[in-house]
Amino acid sequence: MIRAVSGTRDILPAEVSAWHRVESAARSLFARYGYREIRTPIFEETALFARGIGAETDIVSKEMYTFEDRDGSSLTLRPEATAGIVRSVIENNLMNTDPALKVYALGPMFRRERPQKGRYRQFHQVDVEAFGFAGPGIDAEIIEVALGYLEACGLVEVDLVLNSVGDPACRPAYVETLRAALRANLAKLGPDSQRRTETNPLRVLDSKAPEEQGLIAALPRIADHLCPACREHFGEVRRQLDLVGIRYRVDHRLVRGLDYYTRTTFEVTSGALGAQNSLLGGGRYDGLVKELGGPDLCGIGFAVGMERVIMTLPAAEGERRCDVFLMPLGAAAQDKALRLQRALRGAGVRVLLDPEGRSFKARMKLADKLGARFVAILGEDEIQKGAWTVRDMAGSAQEDVPEARVLDHLKEKIHG
Ligand code: AMP
Repeated sequence: MIRAVSGTRDILPAEVSAWHRVESAARSLFARYGYREIRTPIFEETALFARGIGAETDIVSKEMYTFEDRDGSSLTLRPEATAGIVRSVIENNLMNTDPALKVYALGPMFRRERPQKGRYRQFHQVDVEAFGFAGPGIDAEIIEVALGYLEACGLVEVDLVLNSVGDPACRPAYVETLRAALRANLAKLGPDSQRRTETNPLRVLDSKAPEEQGLIAALPRIADHLCPACREHFGEVRRQLDLVGIRYRVDHRLVRGLDYYTRTTFEVTSGALGAQNSLLGGGRYDGLVKELGGPDLCGIGFAVGMERVIMTLPAAEGERRCDVFLMPLGAAAQDKALRLQRALRGAGVRVLLDPEGRSFKARMKLADKLGARFVAILGEDEIQKGAWTVRDMAGSAQEDVPEARVLDHLKEKIHG
């Protein structure tokens, strides 16, 4: 037997309504803030991700699904959405027609991580990006969008963490200060952090190694090394969040290790999630569009893990899968039922019947399971009378409805 590939999972029919809910929450909320949907390809040239995410990152160095195409070019299944969106913005000159560009995307991403609860190799993200806004207002607004989205999905008990990672004016000096502090403590670091002390010291701040936590807490903090412009920007982001009553915690360890990420970074976690507790992450990337060959256009965005959002939602109650269940008994009734079924469906009513013609009892059970609001029965007695028996499943009340009226009767009952 062939099984689903490790780290991938089926979204089964019973789960789909939860997915529809989080998808439509995205569409309806983002539209209110002026975001429009963009759909970019699932695979791109490998070089896009190497440049857009950074060759040093775990994603690029260890986790990409990369393959050689028949013409020898190297392609990769997208591990995240931002790089593809930035490529599209540049390639289609979107900023020419829309200098303040706001877009969102929904879809699957692929990373060869070690699978566990809440961590998959194919997973889905809701991604939101805004281009061409330099001021701190968009940082505060996009954080509001992120939290508003979780709330629209039904999640309110979440924690927002915030930081500023500075910019090319102030970060290099901080990185050197950090490196010097790490070099002085090299013996207390594990091999990964020892290596990163030289290659990318900011990433040591993300380390989860228990024995390094004490040392990391005492390292120099970026907040104390921001240049005046970055300090002012961060102060204004925080002031605007305070203004609208959004609570947050500043964590100096929330970093993005790449040069084109600037200033604001943020993450939202949920205590309900366990080890993989991150619901969404984002930040400002003022150098990325240029790095990928475009104009000097600033950007900011975030990505939400849809599986993680759905995992934290309360289970949906039983779903109603049909409005009307038809129960013809006998061949003549069957033909009338088929015609009625087609007419009802044409009128927008969700209608089912049992094509296998099982026993009355089995069919009543099925109607109940499908959540039918009405069952319309046509047996020999009914044919004699020229009327259907329509049963309201909520109260079990029954009434006779003449054949000529039954279509309109059921339409009225369902659509009011
Ligand atoms: P990132 O793109 O790594 O910043 O991740 C953004 C969000 O995507 C995270 O907060 C998670 O909710 C989700 N996410 C990232 N990687 C995975 C994964 N392997 N499986 C499921 N969700 C993920």
